[in-house]
Amino acid sequence: MHVYPTVLGLYGDRGNALVLRSRAERRDLPAEIVSIEPGEPVPAGGDIYLLGGGEDLAQTTAAELLRADDTMRQVIEANGVVLAVCAGMQILGHQFRAARGLVPGLGLLDVTTDAGATRAVGELLVAPDEASFGLPALTGYENHRGRTTLGPHARPLGRVDHGVGNGDGTEGVVQRRVVGTYMHGPALARNPALADLLLGWVIGHAPAPLADPTAVALRKERLLTVRSRPAASSPENRTMSRPATVARLRIRFRSRDSDPGA
Ligand code: GLN
Repeated sequence: MHVYPTVLGLYGDRGNALVLRSRAERRDLPAEIVSIEPGEPVPAGGDIYLLGGGEDLAQTTAAELLRADDTMRQVIEANGVVLAVCAGMQILGHQFRAARGLVPGLGLLDVTTDAGATRAVGELLVAPDEASFGLPALTGYENHRGRTTLGPHARPLGRVDHGVGNGDGTEGVVQRRVVGTYMHGPALARNPALADLLLGWVIGHAPAPLADPTAVALRKERLLTVRSRPAASSPENRTMSRPATVARLRIRFRSRDSDPGA
């Protein structure tokens, strides 16, 4: 169930649905992507619910609609499987800060998001927590201002090796069968093991392994590239470490879009 793809779908997050469908079908599991647009009721009974990233305004609208709709609450309280990326994760938490101020979330994840002093933009490399289902290193692309604090009922997906993630050295959240993350990429194309974790929750056992040369090559390239970068190139201090030409480009981008709040 792809929730509001036209509003919550930054940076190719729709790819998460395509990856799940492909990995299901290659195991002879019938799979259909159902896209729900704002204004339509979110149906209960989906196997996996996907929420992607969104600009502040789109995210605020989505939060208001989803609070009124109530299906996400029913799904999550019934241990439904959800992948919530960036704005999607923030919306499921207690509150988040958009350009116009604090916005109440759905309160289904024990997380709270405030705004950081800078946008976190760049590659994200994450070491999953020991308890995070035996996942390998996770790779993604992040672009957000939000900084997310976890409460006692939530645990992080992992620890940040490169990038910003939640902003306190942790990345993402796992609570019930909801995985929240700041990883775009899309996250499931870069991390097929995460896709299989979600599929496994649905079918009740780990899906059969797949030969996946494209995903293996993509992961190898991304992990090598990020690991070869000095720590100083992490987004929090990028302004200091970037060459002048890139810094100039960045300033031009900002003035043209005057904080897209994405
Ligand atoms: N608007 C949110 C933020 O900047 C989420 C951005 C996103 O989904 N990429 O934190």
